[in-house]
Amino acid sequence: MKTIGLIGGMSWESTITYYQLLNEAAKEKLGGLHSAKILLYSVDFFEVEALMSRGDWDAAAELLGDVAARLERAGADFILICTNTLHKVAPQVQASIHVPLVHIAEAAAEELCEHGITRVALLGTKYTMTQDFYRNKLTERGIDILIPEGDDIELVNRVIFDELCLGVVKNESKKEYLRVIDSLRQRGAQGILLGCTELGLIVSQSDVALPLFDTTLIHAKKAAGLAFPV
Ligand code: GLU
Repeated sequence: MKTIGLIGGMSWESTITYYQLLNEAAKEKLGGLHSAKILLYSVDFFEVEALMSRGDWDAAAELLGDVAARLERAGADFILICTNTLHKVAPQVQASIHVPLVHIAEAAAEELCEHGITRVALLGTKYTMTQDFYRNKLTERGIDILIPEGDDIELVNRVIFDELCLGVVKNESKKEYLRVIDSLRQRGAQGILLGCTELGLIVSQSDVALPLFDTTLIHAKKAAGLAFPV
């Protein structure tokens, strides 16, 4: 079994899901009392969010690169950044370690291709929905991307930071999300990519007609496949 290094805390609400999924996968694949070997470095999200919102990505890269190096020194065989948005600094984080960084958007693109999706609706933070660092990983694999229009970009982003990252799940926000998803369906989306690790807290497959792809599940599944190959 390999040791999984997790850079978590962004937010800790979704890091819990990673911890649970990885241990469930170990149990399912290996049976008995097996559980996952995990090194978790959980950051203070207040500090990271402050860097993101003032656009100081160099400082965010330095912070996460330092955390990744600590996890490597502690014995991680590979590392996951447990958030989509901070993959903006994935190249700098990978450059600061010698073990692989398992990229969340590459794992998502692989999963979408396996399901024959060529036109996906992407939901996530405004950084993830609008910037190339994430979108390119999908378009490189021939996947067209649809994102919400106008004020809905801000709505989707606001609910993530002001509610979900604080563990707050509001019924009215869920209704708004479902409205946004429905308009993306009408614009031709074949599937919905939950490109934010907290979105599984508010939208589930039973809420929507289109296939749902949750990056937290996809990323954790990829890590489990690397850590406990059968
Ligand atoms: N966890 C979220 C994501 O997957 C948003 C919070 C963050 O910016 O890290 O993008």
